[in-house]
Amino acid sequence: MKGQSRRKGRAKHNKPQRVEESLQPKHSIKHKKHANHSPASSNPPKSSSSSFLDKVKARLAGGHFRMINEKLYTCTGKEALNYFKEDPDLFNMYHTGYQEQMSHWPEQPVNRILKWLKDRSSSLIVADFGCGDARLAKNVKNKVLSFDLVSNNPSVIACDMSNVPLDSSSVDVAVFCLSLMGTNYSSYLQEAYRVLKPSGWLLIAEVKSRFDPNNGGADPNQFTKAVCEMGFTSELKDFANKMFALLYFKKKEKQNSKGREIEWPELKPCIYKRR
Ligand code: SAH
Repeated sequence: MKGQSRRKGRAKHNKPQRVEESLQPKHSIKHKKHANHSPASSNPPKSSSSSFLDKVKARLAGGHFRMINEKLYTCTGKEALNYFKEDPDLFNMYHTGYQEQMSHWPEQPVNRILKWLKDRSSSLIVADFGCGDARLAKNVKNKVLSFDLVSNNPSVIACDMSNVPLDSSSVDVAVFCLSLMGTNYSSYLQEAYRVLKPSGWLLIAEVKSRFDPNNGGADPNQFTKAVCEMGFTSELKDFANKMFALLYFKKKEKQNSKGREIEWPELKPCIYKRR
């Protein structure tokens, strides 16, 4: 199936979405005046200067995170792969900021996917597209094939997930947890379709505001329709969480007849807000 022609569905991207979550630090940096102006006290005590430095470092790290995040949402997967190849440290910077950001979310979507997997047979083979720190692989008994742009861990395969080194019809579950980032996101879903077995599951967790048409986001029905046109049935749409939406699909036993161009909605970048 890999060789077959893929329908082009590159979505255009406009205005970024803001996620109403703060990135560290919450407090602005202020210099306190000391009442005593003796030379000794004009230098702040070591602990306060190191906490000042920590705050500066945190601000810089937050700025770097937001810059890399925006880059990932506004380029193709191929460009993102080259971006990190040139400077793999950027990937670590990104993930430090990402984890910090996630720590403010009341619930992490990856935990919902973990629970879904744990409630099912551990014999299911899972492909984790855009695995980050490979939390799925670390926490379930299933065989998990983890893919990301950079591999910091021998179990993670570094690649652009529009082209993963897996045979067609070889996995039971394909996961995209907050990872539909590239402007060519539909090609990641096409790749998941290719590697999934018939009746296999496609689990998508995405930032909710990206599916909020009242706020410039995509129409979730149009997105679902596009995924179904690829050859899936929609099994779950869960918008109950404040921060993320869950969209689960099942691959049809038989492929849809090809020919019609799929209209993929624009999925806008998610830009984390600085407070
Ligand atoms: N799924 C993880 C990490 C989410 S962050 C979790 O829920 O914790 C999104 C991840 O997708 C990042 O690690 C980013 O590098 C990865 N990613 C984005 N585009 C990618 C691409 N084209 N190919 C592979 N990984 C990609």
